[in-house]
Order: sequence, then C-alpha cells, then structure tokens
Amino acid sequence: MTALRPPASLPGSPNLPNGGRVAPAAGFRSAPGGLPGRLSRVAQLLARLPGVGEKTAQRFALFLATGGADTARELGGELAELGGHIRPCARCGHIAEVAEDSGDAPALCAICLDTRRDGGLLCIVARVQDLLAIERSGAMRGRYFVLGRLLSPLEGVGAEELPLEALRARVRDPEEPVREVLVATPPSVDGEATALLLARELGALGIQVTRIASGVPHGGDLEFADQVTLGRAIEGRKHFG
Ligand SMILES: [Zn+2]
Repeated sequence: MTALRPPASLPGSPNLPNGGRVAPAAGFRSAPGGLPGRLSRVAQLLARLPGVGEKTAQRFALFLATGGADTARELGGELAELGGHIRPCARCGHIAEVAEDSGDAPALCAICLDTRRDGGLLCIVARVQDLLAIERSGAMRGRYFVLGRLLSPLEGVGAEELPLEALRARVRDPEEPVREVLVATPPSVDGEATALLLARELGALGIQVTRIASGVPHGGDLEFADQVTLGRAIEGRKHFG
C-alpha cells in the first residue's frame, strides 16, 4: 500500500532534530575524510602525481590500505628499486633500464638496442611522452632523439639550450649514418620554431629533413593525439627546410 510510504518529496522526518537531515561535518575540507595519519600521508604523496586530484589520491590510498595489500607491497618494492635502475639512454635520451651492477656504464634503451629498427631514420621529439605516443601509433620503425625541451623565444630558451651538438654527433655516427630526420616536435609556436632551427642545422649537413604532416591540431599535444591521426601524420610526412 503506497499510503504507508511517505512521499519522496517529504523533507525528512518531523520527529527527528533538523528534520532527520545530517548536517555537513564541520571542517571537512581541512581534514578530508579523517584518514589516519599514515594513510593521509600516502594520499598526499599520490596527489603529487600528474593528473591525480585529492579525491582520486584518497581512493587509491584506501584501496592500497584495504583491498589491495598485495598491490601495495609489490608497488612499494618496485618504487624503492626504480631510481637505481632507470637512466636516460646515452644515445637518444629515452628511458633506459640498467642492471644492478652496471656501475657508470652508458645505458642504452630498448629502441636503440633493437637491431630490427631502421637506423637511417631518426625521429626527433621534444619529450619522452611524445616518443611513447608515436610508438603507440606503430608508424615509426626508425630510432629517436629526445630534445628534452623546445626553443621558446617568449620564455627565453635559445638554441644554445638545446642538445644540438649531441644531435649532430648522432646523425654523423659512422656506425649508423642517418639519411632522414623526421621532426616530430608539436605543432605549436615553439614546436615550429624548433623544427625550423633543426631543418637549418641538419639540412646544412646534407640530411633529408621531413616534418610530420598536418592532422595533429595546431597547439595540440602529441601525447593526446589519437593513434590513427598520429600514424597518418608520420606516414604523410613532408620534405621540410
Ligand atoms: Zn635510446
């Protein structure tokens, strides 16, 4: 009988204080969720990760503390070991993994070590994230060179702050001479300025310089371009400089 149930619009119960409604906890924002100190510390650390907000960090921390104890142990172990085993690749600037006992020996990444790659084609990117995005597209079978930064006239980053000397040495390496450089800096003002500089520098060495085709929106981030668009931009690359 519907008469036993109060209508949905009835505002709480008239017999309870505040009509049965629960008042918001005072100071909730300053002490969110009232997590124990150790867990709160984990949540604060997780919130430092890119793209992870306060709420997501708390959700991760709670999962690790309750349902995901095995994950927490495994993650903790891997994180503790990470710093000692990861270095920039001495050849291209990508991330390389090194063995425990490698000392100061130069580290090489999996792409530089892969003998099936076309060593004559070198793709220049601004950041490791861009390299990973291009790898996901599956359209690049050559090797890479990570600049680490872009020319930025507005922020005062000049050509002398780019690793041009290392790049020249790389393209002239007699063991793996480069015939084509594909410039895959992002289609932004800084990315285009950098591409022009590279075309001038490398063109002077007699190397064919190409640029990823349009399709990646101007000002867009390679990291967020979809794989098909990025794959087409690489396949449709144009002579440049
Ligand atoms: Zn490498």
